[in-house]
Amino acid sequence: MADLKKFLSKDGTIRIATVISTETVNDAFRYFEASPLAKTLMARALTGAILMASQMKERLGTALHFIGEGPLKSIFASAQYEGGAKVYCENRSAELPTGVTNLGAGLGAGRLDVIQSRPFEREPLRGTVEIYTGEIGDDIAYYLNQSHQIPAIVSLAALPAEKGVEIAGGYLIELMPGYTEETIQKLENLQPLLESTAKKLQRGATPEDLIDIYLDNFEFEEITHPYKPHYECGCSIERVERSLVLLGPGTLDEMIEEKETAEIGCEFCGRKYELSIAELQKLRDSLDEVPVH
Ligand SMILES: [Zn+2]
Repeated sequence: MADLKKFLSKDGTIRIATVISTETVNDAFRYFEASPLAKTLMARALTGAILMASQMKERLGTALHFIGEGPLKSIFASAQYEGGAKVYCENRSAELPTGVTNLGAGLGAGRLDVIQSRPFEREPLRGTVEIYTGEIGDDIAYYLNQSHQIPAIVSLAALPAEKGVEIAGGYLIELMPGYTEETIQKLENLQPLLESTAKKLQRGATPEDLIDIYLDNFEFEEITHPYKPHYECGCSIERVERSLVLLGPGTLDEMIEEKETAEIGCEFCGRKYELSIAELQKLRDSLDEVPVH
């Protein structure tokens, strides 16, 4: 079963990506826990990145980097066209200040950097806007409008559970060149008729269910998307070893002398890597083999 679906209106002016991301989000919380606030906004950011990346091309990806003055400090979410996605929050135990109920205050005022990876170019493409509400969906819509002049509707939902999230998902509707005022008006008129994405997800919605009103009122064709979103950190024991080597011979010597096993946690997924003294010694010895110029 595909979790992500894409549709294009027959006149080519509306494109939609819609996804159920519960499983992907829960994989992101496999090795660590987070506050309900952090979980909700991290899940929304991860879902938003997955939707945006799905509309790109092979080997391209999108990263959203929210940097705010609020207690969460920053959230980073990235996704590749091929479905691999990950998310990180600087202060994932953060709660909202007492008396504050709007989730956007978790990030507070600040900026959103959107980075588009381009493997064939030296530099990625970057765009920056101020944080609009901090609720993530609104911010993505604001970015698309401000930086690309694309009118967009973004709905992202996640409900935190005791472990991970109960549900997560959402959709991204973008207007393409050639759209008419009539199309905008029709979309705006349909919006209030739509049941909340969170409620639909709780009832076990499919990706199509999330956008049923739009599918019923415009003529759409499904665009085949052969990839399934999945959590993919990319960390490995080799990476951990490389980072240890970078600490230098002095630090490695200290760790060996103290007879500590090194336990290194990946900052994205929280996965723990353990190295024995023998393995540390091997890394330390490898530094001596490096020829000195
Ligand atoms: Zn990792």
